[in-house]
Amino acid sequence: AEGVTKVYRSGGTRVSKRTELVVSDNIYLTIHPGETVGLVGESGSGKSTLARAIVGLLKPDGGRILFQGTDLLSLDRAGFRPFRRHVQMVFQDPYASLNPRHKVAEIIAQGPIAFGTPRAEALARARELLGVVGLDASAGGRYPHEFSGGQRQRISIARALAMEPQLLIADEPVSALDASVQAQVLDLLADIKAKLNLAMLFITHDLRVAAQICDTVGVMQHGRIVEYGAATEVFGHPTDPYTRALLDAIP
Ligand code: ATP
Ligand code: MG
Repeated sequence: AEGVTKVYRSGGTRVSKRTELVVSDNIYLTIHPGETVGLVGESGSGKSTLARAIVGLLKPDGGRILFQGTDLLSLDRAGFRPFRRHVQMVFQDPYASLNPRHKVAEIIAQGPIAFGTPRAEALARARELLGVVGLDASAGGRYPHEFSGGQRQRISIARALAMEPQLLIADEPVSALDASVQAQVLDLLADIKAKLNLAMLFITHDLRVAAQICDTVGVMQHGRIVEYGAATEVFGHPTDPYTRALLDAIP
């Protein structure tokens, strides 16, 4: 991200004053292959907005999103299409994003099929990926509602991996899970990242989770990155008062 800015505007009618909310304020962020960058910060600080801008779900008002040198914002729909594979996202609520009417193997295979992988091959790969994320291959024949929250998050990770992404964006992927399942899913993500040399943007409001999985950390406040650096430095020797306050708030 280079100078990414996003402003939400509302009001400006006879009865309400026009307001502007700057949710991304000139954000610069680089993620390298094999690196996990964490974004932490309180609710409403703009973490998900930045993530959605990077995957192309929303268009910033200014700045550039560069993927290996290509400015994604300058591309038209057809030009952007190949990049959709390379950047995948895992969401907070894995149930909302898994189609309840489709069997798990079909859900995982859907993306690759849309990109031209033969159906049988994509389904076979889907069953392999279920093994990678620690589920039984027979899970492919069942429906999302037959799984627990942690298992569903594994399914959405498998779906993202099926696209062979180079960047994985995980927006609060473990926030809805209890502590022991959190640890399992975090281990899985760390393992996958190491094996595939993935670049990962990991969004969380939980600093302990960030400390566990991130190499680099950016602290967001009111749409700005107020502190950025190696996770050990940011958590060990915070220089920004807001980062210190966040760390002090941990029980
Ligand atoms: P959380 O930790 O709760 O997920 P966040 O850091 O991800 O928070 P965002 O979802 O990026 O925060 O939202 C940042 C701000 O932008 C919030 O104040 C939110 O209300 C506002 N916002 C988000 N989407 C829109 C929208 N479509 N229209 C207007 N305002 C929006
Ligand atoms: Mg969010």
